[in-house]
Amino acid sequence: MRLILLGPPGAGKGTQAKRLEEAYGIAQISTGDMLRAEVKSGSDLGREAKAIMERGDLVPDAIVTAMLAKRVQQPDCVKGFILDGFPRTVPQAESLDVMLRDQAMALDHVIELQVDDAALVDRIAGRFTCAKCGAGYHDSFKPTAKVGVCDVCGSTEFIRRADDKAETVSARLEAYHRQTAPLLPFYKAQGKLRAVDGMAEMDEVTRQIRAILGTG
Ligand code: AMP
Repeated sequence: MRLILLGPPGAGKGTQAKRLEEAYGIAQISTGDMLRAEVKSGSDLGREAKAIMERGDLVPDAIVTAMLAKRVQQPDCVKGFILDGFPRTVPQAESLDVMLRDQAMALDHVIELQVDDAALVDRIAGRFTCAKCGAGYHDSFKPTAKVGVCDVCGSTEFIRRADDKAETVSARLEAYHRQTAPLLPFYKAQGKLRAVDGMAEMDEVTRQIRAILGTG
């Protein structure tokens, strides 16, 4: 099964993608995670992407598309994948179509997580993850049980994304509306678009997505 999760930053794509990865045994592919790994490693690509990401802008299509093309050829993608954060522009979606067609693969579903913009800044600006195990938290909505200690692994180190600052979030939202939202009519025209209520509780969102996907 191959699917795309679409939605603005903070809609819950990463959380849902991880749950679907477990439920269906297919790979979660987050171009944001891949780019952050490049930034961390200090590679040429990472150096180029860092400033762009910190401004809240999109990394050029050619870079992200090449990265994705390599990723979908990895063995863990044979059973399928969930794209989380790709495509983000119409040219990226067109490249993906070509890429899949060349490999005789089809996209099964495109799921839009619908959320109110007003909720997103609060959702994003307070989020942080455990540096050791990656468990996700939020200052207001999901704090750790004991201040400064990860509930899952007990680590006391946490990471906040450089682009999760309130100032950057509005640039990211603007990029979504200007460059990514046109993908909604693009996939609607292909008959693949389905929407779920991204404002619902996390478990309810998962339930709605699984109802669309079926047993996979
Ligand atoms: P994310 O973790 O998906 O929110 O992505 C974080 C940042 O990485 C974005 O704000 C962009 O700067 C960059 N990025 C991730 N995926 C893409 C993509 N498909 N196209 C362009 N830029 C991307």
